[in-house]
Amino acid sequence: MSSEMPGGAKPIRLRPRRECPICKAAAKQKYHPFCSGRCADVDLHRWLGGTYAIPSEDPPDFEDGEGWDEGEHA
Ligand SMILES: [Zn+2]
Repeated sequence: MSSEMPGGAKPIRLRPRRECPICKAAAKQKYHPFCSGRCADVDLHRWLGGTYAIPSEDPPDFEDGEGWDEGEHA
């Protein structure tokens, strides 16, 4: 015997609630995945500033002094 109650079906939430990666507020579909155009803009600038610019790598330390014996006193 199966006793299923008609009309009592619970809708499954297909859309998980997302948080704005910028301010952690509830994201809005219009600005997905952000909560507002402002946050989207902030993220965009982060991208432009962080990805487009090549990060300056620290130059390798030059070992000077030790073992450097070249024409000290001719
Ligand atoms: Zn936000």
